[in-house]
Amino acid sequence: MSGSALYETFARAPLAFERGEGSWLVTETGERYLDFAAGIAVNSLGHCHPHLVAALTEQAGKLWHVSNLYEIPGQSRLAGRLAEATFADRVFFTNSGAEALECAIKTARRYHYVNGRPERYRVVTFEGAFHGRTLATIAAGGQKKYLEGFGPKVEGFDQVPFGDVEALEKAIGPETAAILIEPVQGEGGIRVVPASFMETLRALCDRHDLLLILDEVQSGVGRTGRLFAHEWTGAVPDIMAIAKGIGGGFPVGACLATEKAAAGMTAGVHGTTFGGNPLAMAVGNAVLDIVLEEGFLQSVQDRALVARQAFASVVDEFPQVFEDVRGAGLLLGLKCRVANTAVIDALRDARLLAVGAGDNVVRFLPPLTVSDEEIREGVERIRAAAATLAASPAAAEMKKAAS
Ligand SMILES: *Cc1c(COP(=O)(O)O)cnc(C)c1O
Repeated sequence: MSGSALYETFARAPLAFERGEGSWLVTETGERYLDFAAGIAVNSLGHCHPHLVAALTEQAGKLWHVSNLYEIPGQSRLAGRLAEATFADRVFFTNSGAEALECAIKTARRYHYVNGRPERYRVVTFEGAFHGRTLATIAAGGQKKYLEGFGPKVEGFDQVPFGDVEALEKAIGPETAAILIEPVQGEGGIRVVPASFMETLRALCDRHDLLLILDEVQSGVGRTGRLFAHEWTGAVPDIMAIAKGIGGGFPVGACLATEKAAAGMTAGVHGTTFGGNPLAMAVGNAVLDIVLEEGFLQSVQDRALVARQAFASVVDEFPQVFEDVRGAGLLLGLKCRVANTAVIDALRDARLLAVGAGDNVVRFLPPLTVSDEEIREGVERIRAAAATLAASPAAAEMKKAAS
């Protein structure tokens, strides 16, 4: 056995952090890393934001957990605020993104069931999607590497190529209940769904009485400079799964829905033990205090512009390492010409944390509170890593192969 009793499901970097401060993570020996991974969009307000620390510690001294058999005032408050700020009328709280997606899928199926069409249970999804690691969400994501070896794929998901309207129209049949999509594919390689395509989805859903489910687990809660990424388009969902950023580091997820879409989710049909517990709700409400503050989302947009321009100049400077910059807001990707894993390792050597994504992309998700100075520092580190890679024989080889 190697070192620890843990499942070996994660290819972990040999790094452990002792504490975090804003955009920085610090190891036990005091080495400081600039965190442009932010727990994969989870630490939306950076590490140990004083307002979140205060909210959590205050709640910890009062009440940690009560069952959903009782009223939880923090839940009603957070649900009301989310409804107020979005298309939604109803909210169900979970502990994770995958659970929020499970609730979204169940909500869509129940909608048709209570409307007398129980045969409508299928959900159309898109290639490159990522919706979580439960049995249903790996079926929804449709990625072979996540499905393999886990028995028969959960029934009821039809996948079409990204952005292919014709295939989508063909996939919609008498059993279709919903269309599920990430407005920006995160795991799939920071692929932004064009606004026109999102609007086509909405129109198709209206035409066929399907529910439009958005997975904003990664793209939501200010990440793109709007509260939710779909707000950049004319497409309003019926159901939306969120998580990651809403907890700022505490495990929280939620499924949001219109009154109409949630009609089937009546007493007893769904539940959770931990979802929406008082600790989670205290932090979720505290995150919203900041994100909904006047000017906060504009500041995310301003920083995103600075970051994107700087990234574009790095791409110009190192064409042998990077191909292009993509993304929206502070959900940015650099498509690589060398293996993205080599780039991530080189960045880590330069003490900058980033995350891999599909399509040979390196993902950057700095905290939404990142400063312009920290962006400049991060870009310097990307430049340093790129220079090392450009000088290495492996990069040169890739360059030869590409030309
Ligand atoms: C992370 C993620 C999920 C899964 O969230 P978990 O909390 O890991 O279950 C689902 N969808 C998207 C788009 C994600 O980025």
